[in-house]
Amino acid sequence: MNVLLLGGTSEASQLARMLADDGRFRATLSLAGRTASPAPQPLPTRSGGFGGAQGLASFLHAHRIGALIDATHPFATQIHRNAAEASRMTDLKLLAIVRPAWTPGPADAWRPVATMQEAVAALGSFPRRVFLTIGQKDLTPFAAAPWHDYLVRSVDPPPVAVLPPKATVITARGPFGEADEKRLLTEWRTDVLVTKNSGGTATRAKLAAARLLGLPVVMVMRPPQPEDVERVETAEEAMAWLHRTLRGA
Ligand code: NAP
Repeated sequence: MNVLLLGGTSEASQLARMLADDGRFRATLSLAGRTASPAPQPLPTRSGGFGGAQGLASFLHAHRIGALIDATHPFATQIHRNAAEASRMTDLKLLAIVRPAWTPGPADAWRPVATMQEAVAALGSFPRRVFLTIGQKDLTPFAAAPWHDYLVRSVDPPPVAVLPPKATVITARGPFGEADEKRLLTEWRTDVLVTKNSGGTATRAKLAAARLLGLPVVMVMRPPQPEDVERVETAEEAMAWLHRTLRGA
C-alpha cells in the first residue's frame, strides 16, 4: 500500500522508521520545507507545499496513495484542514497522530492564553526578560511589546524582520535536557517563559526547569483540530491502524 506521511514532528520520524522496515508499505514522507537542514529520514522524502487541499488531493490521486497519515504539529492548522478536505475529496482513509497536550501540576504557574496576541498582553507593561520558545512563525505579535528583552530560540535563525526590537537569538534543535534548560533560564536571568502547548517529550524539559526555578509560564493553548478525523496519540498506534487498513478492517 502506498502511504503519504505528512511530517515535521518526532512522531512522524518514528513512524517513518517503522514504515521503512515494513515491506507491506511504500511510504513517502512529506515535509513543509521550513528548516534549512532537516534531520535525515529513512523514507523517500518530498519537500514543500502541495498547493492547498486541491493540490494535495491531486498528489494523492496521482501517486495512488492508499492511506494518508497527518503527523504534523498540533499548531499546524492549515495542513490539518487541507488533509481533512483532501481525504474527503478523494474518499481516502486519513489518520491524524495528535500527541497529548501538556498539563500543569500543582507546582506549575501557568497562564493559559488562546492566541499569541493574548500571550503578548499577558507579559504586562513592565519590562521583563522573556524566553520565547514558539518557533519563528509567530514572533511578529511581540513587536507590540518592545519594552521586554526577548531570548528567542528556534531551529533556524528567524528573519530579522519578524523579531521584536530587543531580541537575542539562539538556534538549537531538541531534545533538550532539564539541567541545560535550568542553566539557560538562570544564566539569561529569565523572568517568564512563553511557549505553545506542543506536548511530547522533546521540548518539555523547559517546563520542569521553570517549575524548579519558580518561573511563570505563558502557555498558548492548542487551536482546535478538524473534528471528523480519526486520531491516535502515537506512531505505534498509527502503525497498527495502517495494518488494519491494509487488511480492509
Ligand atoms: P501550516 O500553517 O498548517 O501549513 C501551511 C502550509 O504549509 C500548508 O498549507 C502546506 O502548503 C504546507 N505544509 C505544512 N506542512 C506540510 C507538510 N508536512 N508537507 C507539505 N506541505 C506542508 O503549517 P506550519 O505551522 O507552518 O508548519 C509547517 C511544518 O512544520 C509542518 O509540517 C509541521 O509539522 C512542522 N512544525 C510546525 C510547528 C508549529 O508550531 N506550527 C512546530 C514544529 C513543527 P500547501 O497548502 O501549499 O500544501
